[in-house]
Amino acid sequence: MRRTQVLVAGGGPVGATAAYRLAQAGIDVLLVEVLPFCPEDMRASTMHPPTLDMMAELGLLEELESQGLRAPSYHYRNRRSGDIIEFDLTELSDISKHPYRLQCEQFKLSRLLTTKLEALKPGSVNFQHRVLAYDQDADGVTVYVETPMAIETIRADFLIAADGSNSTIRKWTRTEFEGFTYPERFLTLSTRYPVEQHFDRLASVNYVADATEWYVLLKVPEFWRILVPTDINTTDDELLSESYKDAVFKRLLGDDRPIETSHRTLYRVHQRVVKEFCHGRVLLAGDAAHLNNPLGGFGMNSGIHDVWNLTTKLKDIYLNGANWQAETERYGRQRRTIAQSFVQAQTIENKQTLEAARSAERSPQELKMQEIAETPALRRQYLMRQSMYESLQQEAGIN
Ligand SMILES: Cc1cc2nc3c(=O)[nH]c(=O)nc-3n(C[C@H](O)[C@H](O)[C@H](O)COP(=O)(O)OP(=O)(O)OC[C@H]3O[C@@H](n4cnc5c(N)ncnc54)[C@H](O)[C@@H]3O)c2cc1C
Repeated sequence: MRRTQVLVAGGGPVGATAAYRLAQAGIDVLLVEVLPFCPEDMRASTMHPPTLDMMAELGLLEELESQGLRAPSYHYRNRRSGDIIEFDLTELSDISKHPYRLQCEQFKLSRLLTTKLEALKPGSVNFQHRVLAYDQDADGVTVYVETPMAIETIRADFLIAADGSNSTIRKWTRTEFEGFTYPERFLTLSTRYPVEQHFDRLASVNYVADATEWYVLLKVPEFWRILVPTDINTTDDELLSESYKDAVFKRLLGDDRPIETSHRTLYRVHQRVVKEFCHGRVLLAGDAAHLNNPLGGFGMNSGIHDVWNLTTKLKDIYLNGANWQAETERYGRQRRTIAQSFVQAQTIENKQTLEAARSAERSPQELKMQEIAETPALRRQYLMRQSMYESLQQEAGIN
């Protein structure tokens, strides 16, 4: 039977960050990922300032910056009036070494981490390895893993479940995944077309409010990405068709030239948090533990913050002899509270703000946003919240 101190299931940004940080601390870690490589999917593309602080501590920020672009400010816009409310993260320069969002797709982070993990000892990555099930006893976890050739049994002190939204491990824990699923799906399109030519003062991150069709328009180095909600009665085939894509761009750009897309993806969107993050020696993190809409860019970031918290505690357990039960349970309490009171609350509110613009007149939400932007103390509080520094301060206060 193979043996490791920590087995991490899932080579997405959350599992890969956990494995890399543990290996850097000299803890024996094995990362298993069902796919043959980290796929180029168009999901998270924003890293918030505290996540950048963490990447700097891992020694990875320079390489990530070379693959991304800095977005120091972002816009809230009213689609009908064109009014812009601007927020500037450089106002946090006094507390942040990285007062900007880094626009860099999540697969670049996963690939960088898994490649570098291979070079660290102890630490290894096994692709094409799927966690099927586990048993646990007082001393450890026995994990059954399907490889291309066999079913392997691996024994570990701890199993970190970072196996994403459909987490097999979460299902085995039988914990409730409380929350709801939105009826509409979200469509994301990416294009190399210079969309900025059609707008006045477009930022790299734009949240555009409209009751009929709000949208998010984001720049990553190679593409513009647009995210729109879709009609619940339209079929998947129609939503992914050329004609639907052309109609979205016609409404966006105001002319009907055909725009080529490089990716088109439909997503079902959930707001859910597991009842318990911590099941003995099995610890849930990232999308395996909580799901939220992408408005604000909190999903991947909060997952990375989960494993930052968890790996700090595991380092304390291995290197300083801290009590594992007390530490892991505290991880669960801290991160579950943040998932509920911060990530869920804020992303639901962000969606409501975008949906509220019924006309060119300012909605109550837009008026509130304007007041925040014009009042220094409120603006500071808002930037602290949206950049996620506030959630980490809250976490530190939870016992
Ligand atoms: C349209 C969209 C836009 C988004 N934008 C943002 C954004 O800007 N900012 C942000 O912070 N978040 C964003 N998110 C959310 C973000 O993509 C997720 O929160 C993030 O991917 C979670 O990372 P993870 O590592 O927990 O899970 P995943 O990235 O899903 O990784 C899980 C990994 O586990 C593997 N796996 C699954 N089952 C097994 C198994 N049994 N054994 C072994 N491996 C397994 C999978 O193959 C996968 O590689 C967005 C999401 C969507 C849908």
